[in-house]
Amino acid sequence: MPTPIITDGSIGRVPQLPRVALPTNVHRYAERASRFESLANGHPMADYLRAMAQIARAQDAALPARAAAPIAAALLESSRQYGMPPLSAQSHERGAEWRADLRDIVAAVRRSAADGMQHTLARLGALADDALEALAERLIAGTTLDADAAFVPFIGAALQVYFSRLAAALIVADVERCDVATVCPVCATRPVASVLRIGPQNSLRYLHCALCETEWNMVRVMCSSCETDKGIAYLSVEQEGRSAAEALAKAETCSECKSYLKIFNQDKDAFVDPVADDLATLALDVLVDEQGFARSGPNLLFHPGSG
Ligand SMILES: [Zn+2]
Ligand SMILES: [Zn+2]
Repeated sequence: MPTPIITDGSIGRVPQLPRVALPTNVHRYAERASRFESLANGHPMADYLRAMAQIARAQDAALPARAAAPIAAALLESSRQYGMPPLSAQSHERGAEWRADLRDIVAAVRRSAADGMQHTLARLGALADDALEALAERLIAGTTLDADAAFVPFIGAALQVYFSRLAAALIVADVERCDVATVCPVCATRPVASVLRIGPQNSLRYLHCALCETEWNMVRVMCSSCETDKGIAYLSVEQEGRSAAEALAKAETCSECKSYLKIFNQDKDAFVDPVADDLATLALDVLVDEQGFARSGPNLLFHPGSG
């Protein structure tokens, strides 16, 4: 069935844009796993991307294993009234479900992980609840330690499952009042990347939450960190035989706040996934870092290091 385009009736065929898209696609982690696998083919970091595919497969299995915990009515009310993100990650009291998601993910990956990974997973599996909560706090706050690096993909994966399950239980009317365009209207986390979408949202730019997988619209050619439209430039590298100008992935750099975030053009590849494609284009981060720009949003499956 074709997706209807809603018009406002006054300016011809101007679509009324969905400002917020909640993560209602229950196949999102299976699709991400397939994307990691296809990106791994012929990639210099193929083993790494295949390991990430295993984690995404484990996320796919964990997602339907539990129901979303109820969200307090007061949080929904202050979101509807004042635009406060209802699941603000830094203040949200996480339920124990996320640790159950983590144990499921660790157990699933252990069944097929290489020997080198088994030791990490055994150590992670032996951590007490308070140590896991401390790891989650650091990941959400963006203060992970180098000593956490091996655990980060699993903690991040479990938190994504937990928060995206909660986000999918919302309705758009709960969260559309949030007018801070630089953070997620559901969980107040920064975006991992932006995507120029195809289909009904043709060429509209959506920021993709690094944590809860919600997407929200932001106009193009605007810094997703400081919201200026001055001094925006695009950097890219040659990729899979495409010239830099035709690249699927570009870095949107801002000379005002010296930050950048990647932007993926779905028109160049319908299967682009902001989390998987981000990790497959770390070479672009190196290039942009060298130009003096700092990345503005995290990828929660990756510890960027203290260097
Ligand atoms: Zn979010
Ligand atoms: Zn900026």
